[in-house]
Amino acid sequence: MTRRFFVEPGEIVAGRVLLGGQEARHLRTVLRLQPGAEVELMDGRGGRYLARIALFSKQGVELEIVGGGLVPLEKERAPLTLAQALLKGQKMDLVVQKATEMGVAAIQPLATARTVADPRDRQRRLERWRRIGVEACKQCGRAVPPEIREVVLWEKFLFVAGQDRGYANRLLFWEEERQTRLADLLPLTPGPTLMVIGPEGGFEAQEVEAARAAGCRTVSLGSRILRAETATLAAVAIGQFLLDNFTM
Ligand code: SAH
Repeated sequence: MTRRFFVEPGEIVAGRVLLGGQEARHLRTVLRLQPGAEVELMDGRGGRYLARIALFSKQGVELEIVGGGLVPLEKERAPLTLAQALLKGQKMDLVVQKATEMGVAAIQPLATARTVADPRDRQRRLERWRRIGVEACKQCGRAVPPEIREVVLWEKFLFVAGQDRGYANRLLFWEEERQTRLADLLPLTPGPTLMVIGPEGGFEAQEVEAARAAGCRTVSLGSRILRAETATLAAVAIGQFLLDNFTM
């Protein structure tokens, strides 16, 4: 039973923190821990601390930080960047949460020809996705949330991605690809990898051509047409496995 609890960075004051609510109840009634016991605290932003139970109070459980601190940012050998065309409604929330759990390094939301998203609520949605990323980190024990970037237009994205020599692999998952399966591109070159997934309406031919001109390889996930979020989850799961990012 992991003794991992989640706090907001601001709740740690002068080396002490008060756990309240269901976290305190879980610690006392489920784990039945007593003063003196040690637990791990995470703030979802890279802070990971060892803390000792100091005392129980009406407000909850008071803990004293005894060690830990900012987790050294282990430089990932093959960080995966997911460039995801904006999806409608809650689907982007799901993509952000699952990509975070699977260790995706960065998420680049894209506005493509067929994305349907109200430009007015971009800032609100971006803040929401970043919150979802932090919450997913706390749940899965990931120290640092993925970088969730501002939405960019397809043309601008391709210009930047095309210039970025840092990628070892640039894969565009295309529902109409008939030549190359992902399996045909294995083994992937170990290194920073970009995966691009389209919107519910798919990619337009000229978008695919432009991506190819920018150095992306178009790949198929088979003859069945997957829903965008299905394709994203499949591509990320396979990609993270191939890049050996399911570390222990
Ligand atoms: N509207 C299109 C489907 C778009 S699916 C149609 O009905 O034909 C949404 C996105 O998921 C696609 O743009 C692509 O990025 C990905 N995708 C879905 N199925 C795929 C497949 N079999 N191979 C590769 N990518 C796929």
